[in-house]
Amino acid sequence: MTDAPAASGGGALRIDVFSIFPQIVDDFCSASLLGKARSAGLLDLRCHDLRDHTHDVHRTVDDQPFGGGAGMVMRPEPIFDAVDAAEPPRPLFLLSPGGRRFDQALAHELAELDGFSLLCGRYEGVDHRVVRHVVDAELSIGDVVLSGGEVASCLVIEAVTRLRDGAMGNAVSPVTESFGADGLLEEPQYTRPAEFRDLTVPDVLRSGDHGRIERYRLAQRLHRTIRERPDLIEARGGLSDDEARLLEEFPADPYH
Ligand code: SAH
Repeated sequence: MTDAPAASGGGALRIDVFSIFPQIVDDFCSASLLGKARSAGLLDLRCHDLRDHTHDVHRTVDDQPFGGGAGMVMRPEPIFDAVDAAEPPRPLFLLSPGGRRFDQALAHELAELDGFSLLCGRYEGVDHRVVRHVVDAELSIGDVVLSGGEVASCLVIEAVTRLRDGAMGNAVSPVTESFGADGLLEEPQYTRPAEFRDLTVPDVLRSGDHGRIERYRLAQRLHRTIRERPDLIEARGGLSDDEARLLEEFPADPYH
């Protein structure tokens, strides 16, 4: 346990997902910590099949785009009907490469809610009337294009649920975890054995001197962030004088 503040209150987080492949999300969220969170009543995940709201024999959810062009577009009616029927918790997000970028800060915001919902696109996307009249916002998991919103939804559900009270084996540290309160990446970590194929663990970590270990760890977080993500250093306003001294006291762990 850490004495860091908890990320959320108790109770179940309700997440409704709308998809033509609800099983992908349901299966992914049945394993490991997410599965445990569901059995423990911490996560109330409801996956809705958009095809249940079609009325033709082929259960058609897509059609050709007005104006022509490649690919198919998801029809509005099954989506409007599925959302009306489920009355899902809001905000309802459409997963979309054009949406707001999902990040750890937004994961923390969503973990504070009682619930939210996710709509998964497929094909070339959804009829724009859905964007204007059904969803509250669009959410992107990064500048990549997937074939559907299901994997993106799983990513959002996992990142948010692990921040809820009791959903992790060990409490998440909101400060030292990557993208935590100090704005740095996490430091390299080691476990036993201390020596393995001539590869050794840094002496300081085995010294038992906890003050020195904490200073060493902060120095490694700084080194790593400067090297891998200089944009994060800039975003937190550079380095303090103390931090600059720490970098001299402890050189970067070799990375190879
Ligand atoms: N034609 C669209 C891409 C459609 S990809 C375009 O050019 O923007 C099909 C579906 O996959 C999308 O509707 C969305 O739900 C999902 N998807 C693809 N990439 C995604 C991303 N980076 N973030 C979130 N969802 C994504």
